[in-house]
Amino acid sequence: EATGPTIVAGEILVEIMASERGLGFLEPLALTGPYPSGAPAIFIDQVAKLGGGAGIIACVGRDDFGAINLERLRRDGVDVSAVSVSDRYPTGSAFVRYRPDGGRDFVYNIAESAAGRITLTDAARRLADGAGHLHVMGSALSIAGLKEIVAYALKSVRARGGSTSFDPNVRKELIDGADGAHFSALVDGADLLLPSGDELLAAAGVEDEGQAVAALIARGVGEVVLKRGAAGSTRFGADGSRTDCPGFLVEEVDPTGAGDCFGATYLTCRRLGIESGKALLYANAAGALNVTRLGPMEGLAGFDALDRFIAGTDRAGTDRAV
Ligand code: ATP
Ligand code: MG
Repeated sequence: EATGPTIVAGEILVEIMASERGLGFLEPLALTGPYPSGAPAIFIDQVAKLGGGAGIIACVGRDDFGAINLERLRRDGVDVSAVSVSDRYPTGSAFVRYRPDGGRDFVYNIAESAAGRITLTDAARRLADGAGHLHVMGSALSIAGLKEIVAYALKSVRARGGSTSFDPNVRKELIDGADGAHFSALVDGADLLLPSGDELLAAAGVEDEGQAVAALIARGVGEVVLKRGAAGSTRFGADGSRTDCPGFLVEEVDPTGAGDCFGATYLTCRRLGIESGKALLYANAAGALNVTRLGPMEGLAGFDALDRFIAGTDRAGTDRAV
């Protein structure tokens, strides 16, 4: 196993939220933000918070939205040498409003923002050539330049004995045609797959959870960790083992970022040599703690904070967590 940092590529955004629930943005309303965001950014910041080596390939605008993101990533220890700064395009953004039923409406500016301008720069090549692990976010694959970056980094990391992980993070409806082939190539041979909900079935192309896991393991996937929101998560090993981890009982304030934070925590624990059951507990704690804070990156936590949270929080159907 290569020892270099974990790297990721994709969108850095600011997130701006409606302060009250409702339907969409069709009338003036109170907003709060900007908060640093973007699935790859949330993920890599959490890797750094846990003390893992971390780097990101991305692009922001030369504006305040870019500055708050770069400051946060730097402060937490992420290598931002491969983040380019566009003079022409503004930093990407996401406006989000929660519906009364907990669903979400988004207005995104990604494709026509700096985030849509990510390319395979010399700095990106350098970061990839020193990396020990590549994490790929399905959400980032809609960015035109990402395929070339992922292909380059995948080859470089694997050639040096490094590992890979993949969070499909995309709806079943979007997996078709040429993207389907690319998607399959990322699933094949991933050391760790991090689907949520029916992304597991979509990734395997079958309709049953057990069959899906078996099919993925047969395709060379090392382990599958399924995210189940408030219900917790399940880890499936290549040896046929299954471990369920009930969710921690918390009050959900803002669900955005839980999955990214969860995945980063599981992966980083594993890369640090922590066994799978303990890694799963830490990941559940990180996801649960994250949803108690407003802002996708405001609830990210290092090991000390996670240990305190685990010691002080109950899980569904269990006695106090150990
Ligand atoms: P997103 O893509 O919106 O970031 P996701 O669908 O990838 O999220 P979730 O399953 O929502 O991921 O959340 C990841 C993990 O975080 C869950 O498996 C669980 O451990 C924890 N978690 C999420 N929401 C809650 C909650 N309301 N209560 C307790 N734990 C939660
Ligand atoms: Mg997800």
